[in-house]
Amino acid sequence: MGLMSGKRGIIFGVANEKSIAWGVAQQLHEAGAEIAFTYLNEALEKRVRPLAESLDASIILPCDVQNEEEMVAVFSELEKQWGKIDFVVHAIAFANREDLKRPFSQTSSEGFRLALDVSAYSLVSMTRCAMPVLKDDASIVTMTYLGSVRSVPQYNVMGVAKAALESSVRYLAAELGEKGIRVNAVSAGPIKTLAAAGISDFKKKLNVAEERAPLRRLVHQDEVGKSTLYLLSDLASGVTGEIHYVDCGFSTSAG
Ligand code: NAD
Repeated sequence: MGLMSGKRGIIFGVANEKSIAWGVAQQLHEAGAEIAFTYLNEALEKRVRPLAESLDASIILPCDVQNEEEMVAVFSELEKQWGKIDFVVHAIAFANREDLKRPFSQTSSEGFRLALDVSAYSLVSMTRCAMPVLKDDASIVTMTYLGSVRSVPQYNVMGVAKAALESSVRYLAAELGEKGIRVNAVSAGPIKTLAAAGISDFKKKLNVAEERAPLRRLVHQDEVGKSTLYLLSDLASGVTGEIHYVDCGFSTSAG
C-alpha cells in the first residue's frame, strides 16, 4: 500500500517533462495516487496528454487559470467522475519576459497585475472553485521561491507575486483549517524549466545556488515531488500554512 493509495486529486501546471509539476506527478503516482491533469492550451496539450496518460490519467482537461469558468468546469467534471477529492497541486506562474529584464521600478501596471493574477490570485480562485469538491481532510500545495522574502536579482515582479502567494497560503490555511483542509507551499531552489527560462541570467542563479546551497548541489524536480508528496499525505496531517524549503540555494544557513 502506497502513502497515497486510494487518494485522488488534480495537478495544475505540467507543461513538459521538465516541469516541477511533472516531478510531483511521478512521486504521487508511485505512491499510489490517482491524478487528473490540466493543460493551458492546445499547444501544451500535445505534450501534457501523453505524459498524463503514461501515469494512467483518465481526466485531462484544459484550464487557463485566468478563466474562472474553465476552472469551475474542471472541478465539476472531477465531482462528476470521482465525487470528492483529496488533493490539489498548484504549480503555475507567469510574468511578462520584459518585466523580468528591466529594473523593477519600470514594471508596468499591466505586467504587475498579470504576474499577480496568474501566479498568486489563481491559488485563491482555484481554492474557491475546489472547495465544494474537497474532502474534509484534503490538502492543497503550491510552489514558491525564495525571491518572495529576499530581493533576488532579476526575479522582480515574480518575487512580489510569490510574496502574495505565500501570504495567500497563510490566509487560506487559516480559513480552511476549520474544516480540516490544509494549505502549504513548497519553496524550491532554482530548477531549469520552461518558466525559469524567462528569468534573465537564470544560469547564474543555478551556479550561485550550486555554490551556496547547504547541500552544495541543485535540487531536482523529484525532490520537490517528494516534499509535495509528504505535504499532501497523512504524514503531514498537522502541517498547514507552512512554507517548506527544498534547499533554496541562498537559503537559511548559507545565506
Ligand atoms: P513550468 O513552465 O514547467 O510550469 C509553469 C506552468 O504554469 C506551465 O505548465 C504553464 O502552462 C502554467 N501556466 C502559466 N500561465 C498559466 C495560466 N494562465 N493558466 C494555467 N496555467 C498556466 O515551470 P516550473 O518551473 O515547473 O514552474 C512551476 C511552479 O514552480 C511555478 O509556480 C514556479 O514559479 C515555481 N518554482 C519554480 C522554480 C524554478 O526554478 N523552476 C523554483 C521555485 C518555484
